[in-house]
Order: sequence, then C-alpha cells, then structure tokens
Amino acid sequence: GHLSPEDRALAERRSRALGPAYRLFYETPVHLVRGEGVHLYDREGKAYLDTYNNVASVGHCHPRVVEAMARQAATLATHTRYLHEGILAYAERLLALFPAGLAHVMFTCTGSEANDLALRIARACTGGTGVIVTDNAYHGVTLATAEMSMSIGPAVAPGPAVFPVPAPSAANYPEGVAAGFARAVNDACDRMAAQGIRPALLIADTIFSSDGVHPDPEGFLAPAAAAIRARGGLFLADEVQPGFGRTGSRFWGFQRHGLVPDMVSLGKPMGNGYPLAGLVLQPGTIAEFGAKARYFNTFGGNAVAAAVGLAVLDVIRDEGLQENADRVGRAFAEGLRALASRHEALGETRAAGLFLGQTILSDGRPDPARTARLVNALREERILISSTGPAGDSLKIRPPLPFSMANLDQFLTTLDKVLARDG
Ligand code: PMP
Repeated sequence: GHLSPEDRALAERRSRALGPAYRLFYETPVHLVRGEGVHLYDREGKAYLDTYNNVASVGHCHPRVVEAMARQAATLATHTRYLHEGILAYAERLLALFPAGLAHVMFTCTGSEANDLALRIARACTGGTGVIVTDNAYHGVTLATAEMSMSIGPAVAPGPAVFPVPAPSAANYPEGVAAGFARAVNDACDRMAAQGIRPALLIADTIFSSDGVHPDPEGFLAPAAAAIRARGGLFLADEVQPGFGRTGSRFWGFQRHGLVPDMVSLGKPMGNGYPLAGLVLQPGTIAEFGAKARYFNTFGGNAVAAAVGLAVLDVIRDEGLQENADRVGRAFAEGLRALASRHEALGETRAAGLFLGQTILSDGRPDPARTARLVNALREERILISSTGPAGDSLKIRPPLPFSMANLDQFLTTLDKVLARDG
C-alpha cells in the first residue's frame, strides 16, 4: 500500500501539531473515520477487521453505551462531591463482580492514575517504597508508573525503588513458572533489603500482555502473591488489559490464578472508549491512606462515567460476551495451532479467551522482523493487529469481545494466505 496525497498531508500536519513523541501504527498508516462492532471504516467506507482493540471491548460505538452516555451527558454531568445515585448503582454492580474481600472502589480516568494511586496507597499501608514489576511490563504514563514500565524503552530508567523481575514464561523459569516466579519475587525483596528498601508492592498485569502474553499454567501467580505478602508488601492485579471478561473462563484475570489481590486496577474496556478507570481494594489496604489523605479526581467517577460503566456491564451480561470470549477464544487458539502444522512460521500459541499471543518463527527461532512483516501484510488485507513481547516476536491478538466464528474464519483464512506468500 501507499499513502494517498491527502493522508500524507494529514501525517505531516500531525507531526507538526503533535510533535515527535507520537507513533502511528503500520508502514502505511490507516486513516479511520467510523467504527461499528468489530469493524473500523476508512474514508472510502472500506471495512477493517479489528483484532487488536481491547478498549472498544463490547464493540466499537456500541449503541447502548453511546445512548447511556448521551442521555446522562444531557441530564447531569458533574463530579463526586454531591450525592448521586448513579455512582453508587455502578460501584455496587462492579463490586458484586469481585470476591467479598474487595469491597471498595475508587474511580479515576485512566489506568495510569489507578496504578499511581495504588502505589500511594501501598506506601501508606506498608511503610515501604519498593516495587516489583516484570521486565517488559507497561503500567502507565505518570512519572511513577512510567518508572515502573520497562517496556517504554531506554528513555525511562526504572525508578530507584523499582525492581524488575523476568516475565513468567517457561523459558525464563525452567524449574516451573509458579515456583520460579515466586523465587524471583523473593530475590527482588532480598535486593531491596540490601539497599535498605522495604517492599510496598508487587504489580502484575495478570495476562502479561506487554511481556508477550503468559496465561499458563493457571494458578502460577498465587505463590508470588504469597511471597510479597510474607515480605510485608501488597499484591496489585493490573486488570487494565485482561479484565471485564476477556480471558473467557473468568471475568478477571486474577481469578485464573486462584488468589484474591489486595488491590485491582481497572481501565481500558471499563468505559468502552469513555475515559473510565478505577482501583478496587480491600478495606484494610486503605485505612492508613484514608485517615490522612483525601481523594478527589475531577472527572473520575463523574455521573456520565458511571452511566457508561453500568451500560458496559449490562452489555457484557446481556450479550453473553464473556461466554463468547471463552468459546471463540478456544476456537481461535485451536485454529492457530492447526494452521501451525502447515506453516513453520507459527510457533507457540498462548491464549486465554480472546487474548492471544502467537510466536512467529524463522528456521525455528523467534523472528521480530517476520512478525512486523506479517502485521503489515495483514493490514494490507484490512485486518488490524499488532505485536508484543520484549523483542516483538509475537502477534498480539485481542479483538472486541463480540468477535464471531465468521470473523475468526476470515482471520485464519487471511493469515493462511499471507503466510503462504511470506514463504
Ligand atoms: N496497565 C496496563 C497493563 C496497560 O496496558 C495500560 C495501558 N496500555 C495501563 C496500565 C495504563 O492505562 P492508561 O493508558 O489508561 O493510562
């Protein structure tokens, strides 16, 4: 593909106005004007199959969500310092989806703010400052969370109290991921102690999206969560990516691990595109913070956000989207594994529901360049996708949850064709 003169002009205006830190997807950027369901549309009305957008999780521009947003925006759009039924109806519906110990929710606008708040709370609760993260995680854009996000690259050094550990892949922990990852957490606490730092927090994206997608074996996170607690720290499940039914068998990613986190951060799919995020916590974690600090977030949990959040939960339930993620997700992983028997490029498939990582190989070795070629070739076939992992050697697949078996068929047929061509 090549960029039309109009789109080239747009790209130039973009870098003039937005500056050098922004990035576009694909060798030939895509110019979109509309979204509906699992599809995005360009100016000519051509449809792109979205296999990547986990924000528009119940489908792009879902009419029930848009309607709830518009109705509330036309009625009352103010913050959390007045009594209002909406925020409580939403908070109670949301908390009912968690194990009983997780009994409070605080609202933010972004996942970054939720993780940043979690760090403040953990410091107050534990008296420590040390944070353990996986070594290619992404947890946010504020200064504190950027310094906990090794995936953003060399421009941001880990914060002075941030201790990265290897991601929980089988390759990193030959002794077994569950025992190995817990040992790594303990070792990190030892390294902290050697520097006079006390642990505050282990934060884990429970699907390890930026680390390459590591869902298995189920339960492997439980010993690591126990390890950080034994050392006086808290365990934060970052559900910004896996949450809200995406992993299929469970509503939350941490539930696949049979543990109850001290805190859970939420974002992206929570508002289906409206900036709505939050932090769910065990009351004991916030006692100290609550006694000293007061919390106000101008836009977080506003009346429109609450209406949107409630509509998203209604749609997930009424359209059986978690069940769909489970069913189509299983077929997706099976389809990729079946295709792997005919294409040496397809290595390991890692999957939970509609969250998949697919390693791409050349001569039996992970190949980031080939992965990038595939991402761009699929874009030319009007299938939107991206890559993940520290080296970018895996496809990252996370379609909106209404993704159907017909959509899956289109994806697999197209991937088959593109792989045959890439030879
Ligand atoms: N945590 C994870 C796991 C994420 O993927 C992201 C966003 N990519 C964030 C936190 C930050 O969320 P936001 O962009 O809404 O600030």
